[in-house]
Amino acid sequence: MFETKILGRDDKSVEYAAELLKRGEVVGIPTETVYGLGANAFDENAVRKIFEAKGRPADNPLIVHISELSQIEELVTEIPRLAISCAEKFWAGPLTMIMPKSPRIPMATSGGLDTVGIRMPSDETARKIISACGFPIAAPSANLSGSPSPTSAQHVFNDMNGRIPAIVDGGYCCVGVESTVISFEGRDGIRLLRPGFISVEDLKEVTENVLIDKGVLAMLDENAAVSSPGMKYKHYAPKAEITLIEGNSEQFRNFVKENGNDKTTLMIFEDSDSAGLDFSAVCYGKTSEEQAHKLFDVLRELDNMGAHQVYARCPAKNGVGLAVYNRLLRAAAFRVIKL
Ligand code: AMP
Ligand code: MG
Repeated sequence: MFETKILGRDDKSVEYAAELLKRGEVVGIPTETVYGLGANAFDENAVRKIFEAKGRPADNPLIVHISELSQIEELVTEIPRLAISCAEKFWAGPLTMIMPKSPRIPMATSGGLDTVGIRMPSDETARKIISACGFPIAAPSANLSGSPSPTSAQHVFNDMNGRIPAIVDGGYCCVGVESTVISFEGRDGIRLLRPGFISVEDLKEVTENVLIDKGVLAMLDENAAVSSPGMKYKHYAPKAEITLIEGNSEQFRNFVKENGNDKTTLMIFEDSDSAGLDFSAVCYGKTSEEQAHKLFDVLRELDNMGAHQVYARCPAKNGVGLAVYNRLLRAAAFRVIKL
């Protein structure tokens, strides 16, 4: 087996990464959300290598990343009016917009759909790599399919060593959860397919008419026809059995006192949530932004600790909290106890 190279983010490394991508290779790239597994979005063979490296089902579409607004024109057949307002307000940034795809995008990239998800990342290294390539980069999260998304180059290395030639190390991802995914309905409607750092409240500044897709909060059947295919797959699954405990800090402590055993680990906001309790505990942050930033690292840490059974304090469901809740709900296989 060969060893995957970890590159820096200096100009030479960016140039080398672009060389690999031009040759049809797959490279791990940093973005502000999570690390991506990038390949030339126009090159069917290169894109197939992404699916292979991840073990990703072929019907789960990739997001196409651009570095300049003008690139969008050859990717879509139509730009909805609201997409322009959203691009002005939220790009470059963690928002993916679904639009009707042009024939330039191979079906392999769009998972067989006639639409394509497009995003312009704000991460400078990501933008430099895309610019140096001169073509858009298709990239899903750089984890093995089903594992928590990677928020550091080391996470990518742990999952992808020997599967891809190189990873560009851009440091720890500042947002920490994948992009918000939206599609457009009629003249002035937005449908939220996957919550992210750009919140429902943010989107409502563009239009009042924001609908939350049922896949955001509900368990979907693997055979169901869904608007955001990624949502139906088992996701972010750590080895431990996680249960979300919905209640305040005191209720949480009382619940753990009564129900915890020697196999229990706690996933809490801050130390005071486990005050007076004798259980190993991992903090994932007090604010929704902090929780988004740390969530996937903490899920990987729980695996490294060998945690068996985890009681997690349930995040807020508004603002960025909805994104954290959506991911944690899946990591917990939808097990929630309301106190
Ligand atoms: P990942 O980057 O691994 O989180 O995967 C990208 C996710 O974006 C997919 O799993 C889908 O849920 C969503 N997505 C990408 N392209 C489309 C599309 N054309 N239509 C609907 N959802 C999409
Ligand atoms: Mg993913």
